[in-house]
Amino acid sequence: MTEEAFDTFCPDCNMQVSAAVICQGHGGFSSSSMNTIDVADAEYHGDTYLVALCNKCSAPFLVKRSLYGVPGEFETITDESVLYPQTSRLPIEGVPDSVRRAYDQALSCFSASAYEACALMCRRSIETLCNTTQATGKSLQAKLDHLAAAGVVDKRIAEWAHGIRAVGNEAAHDTEAHLLKDDARDALDFTEALLMYVFALNSRFQAFQKRRGK
Ligand SMILES: [Zn+2]
Repeated sequence: MTEEAFDTFCPDCNMQVSAAVICQGHGGFSSSSMNTIDVADAEYHGDTYLVALCNKCSAPFLVKRSLYGVPGEFETITDESVLYPQTSRLPIEGVPDSVRRAYDQALSCFSASAYEACALMCRRSIETLCNTTQATGKSLQAKLDHLAAAGVVDKRIAEWAHGIRAVGNEAAHDTEAHLLKDDARDALDFTEALLMYVFALNSRFQAFQKRRGK
């Protein structure tokens, strides 16, 4: 009994799409009763996995569906999550509010297919990052160089930041520029990696060292 389709967000199409289920299977059931068939009102929980394809671009989805029911009476879906592709980004801990606001706006712009605005907000994210880490310099370029020289970021990460700055500059100053979705997506990914590196992983490593007693 394969269902026809369900609605989901396709990151490749960057829009809400219909996905056709091509196969599904049970991931097992559990119940507190030994035999759910013989015991009246025996509740059970179980998971079902669905594989579906986007109706627009044929990208695949893997969906986990949690079920709850009583045999012969009812079965209901209690939870549904897309395991692949990962649509929501990792929570980045320890990011200052001002930086997070800029980054959240970049994410919203991307979801709305506003790619130039997305690149601008990515640039603002790293500019705000520089301000919160007390980077000095007259331009964003100089501030990023200062961060690298001070060891806040290493050379490769600084290079990524310069890349985001360049895409943001293009979106800001080149009126003929028509930024591609891929450019905006890369700018977002590198911004995320940068925030992860400077804020989240740093504080996590400090906690790790503390826990291990150095
Ligand atoms: Zn798609």
